[in-house]
Amino acid sequence: MLSIKNLHASIEDKPILRGLDLDVKAGEVHAIMGPNGSGKSTLSYVLAGKDDYEVTDGEALLDGEDLLEMAADERAAKGLFLAFQYPLEIPGVATMTFLKAALNAQRRARGQDDLPTPQFMKLVKEKADRLGISPEMLKRGLNVGFSGGEKKRNEILQMALLEPKLCVLDETDSGLDIDALKVVSEGVNALRGQDRGFVVITHYQRLLDHITPDVVHVMAKGRIVRTGGPELAHELEARGYADYLDQAAA
Ligand code: ADP
Ligand code: MG
Ligand code: MG
Repeated sequence: MLSIKNLHASIEDKPILRGLDLDVKAGEVHAIMGPNGSGKSTLSYVLAGKDDYEVTDGEALLDGEDLLEMAADERAAKGLFLAFQYPLEIPGVATMTFLKAALNAQRRARGQDDLPTPQFMKLVKEKADRLGISPEMLKRGLNVGFSGGEKKRNEILQMALLEPKLCVLDETDSGLDIDALKVVSEGVNALRGQDRGFVVITHYQRLLDHITPDVVHVMAKGRIVRTGGPELAHELEARGYADYLDQAAA
């Protein structure tokens, strides 16, 4: 489903991703762990198509199609979903309005008509209800004054609404509180399925106590330096990343 080969990317001429390979098949949950500064968030931004990131070599395909050639909204239309470490706050835009715009942008890019407002309202209320999101929260400005847990709930609501093929979640380095952790893990577990792939980026093993990944990767200095099963996450928690930093530097 996602196939990344020899990906190199720079920010302001500084190489950050340095030959990254990653293959995610439909139905799989992959975790990427690694020390701070190894380029985990850069990978998510490059996949999102954010400006400032220059891809200098390699490829990234989603179901055989070149992701890197697509505009950001086209990537979303093709079924890529990204949740960033630092979610956007938009004071003037109600969460509900944002969700509607996101869903309709995806539909338009797929050649479908906008979802009529009553149908959208019904759909979003149904999904929000399941996630314990109140109608009041949907009226508030996007992520403005949201707690960590509320931001995560909102992120999972977006994911549930857009029904993406591939979800990339970049989780905060400072650690989620227990409420946010539960929201993310329950959200991911509920959406797990044979047609959908996940890449969960996390500095700590804690999230992986709640989401059992199929594959765990260690990223250091801009590339994947080791791949294993769920047990690798526990090993990392016990031993830290020092070995990998030495190895990547060599
Ligand atoms: P991680 O998410 O693994 O902690 P990042 O992708 O955030 O790593 O950062 C990787 C490297 O890129 C770091 O050395 C960081 O300082 C650098 N970096 C990230 N964003 C920028 C930027 N906007 N401008 C310059 N350097 C950056
Ligand atoms: Mg970081
Ligand atoms: Mg990061």
